[in-house]
Amino acid sequence: MKPWWEKEPLRFECQADCFRCCQKPGLVYFDAEDIRAVAKVLHTRPSEFKAAWLTRDHGYWVLEVEEGRPCPFLDEKGCSIHEVKPKQCRTYPFWRENLDSRNTWNLAGGFCPGIDQGPRVPPQTIRENLKKFRL
Ligand code: SF4
Ligand code: SF4
Repeated sequence: MKPWWEKEPLRFECQADCFRCCQKPGLVYFDAEDIRAVAKVLHTRPSEFKAAWLTRDHGYWVLEVEEGRPCPFLDEKGCSIHEVKPKQCRTYPFWRENLDSRNTWNLAGGFCPGIDQGPRVPPQTIRENLKKFRL
C-alpha cells in the first residue's frame, strides 16, 4: 500500500535564519560515517571527536543538546558543520515519526515553520531521506 505522502502533495522549505531544530533539547545521532566526515572537517581523529563531543546511548553515538542551550555546532551563521552535518540533521523533517500520518506531519509543522511551505517534495526524495536515517 502506498504511504499517504505518495498520494497527497507534501511541501517543505527550510526557513532562513530559523534554526529552531538546532535549539531543541534532545539527542543528535552520529553513525560511523557521520563521525568520520565531521572529524575530517574539524581536523581531528574520529576517536578524538567522539571523546570530545559524543556519549553512548543504547549502543549509538550521540550528541546531547541540553535544555536552554543550542547544539554546540550552531553559530550565528547557522550550522558550522553544515557540509557534513549528520544524517539525522540532513534528513529532517523527513523522519519516520513525522511521516507516520498526515496528523504526525501536521504536528511536526507546529514546531517546524518550513513544513507545508515551498515546493512539493517528490516522493523519491522522501524515500531517500527515510533510507538515510532509519531511527
Ligand atoms: S525548524 Fe524547520 S524551518 Fe526551522 S531550521 Fe529547522 S528545518 Fe528549517
Ligand atoms: S549538527 Fe548542525 S544541523 Fe545538526 S543540530 Fe547541530 S547545528 Fe543543527
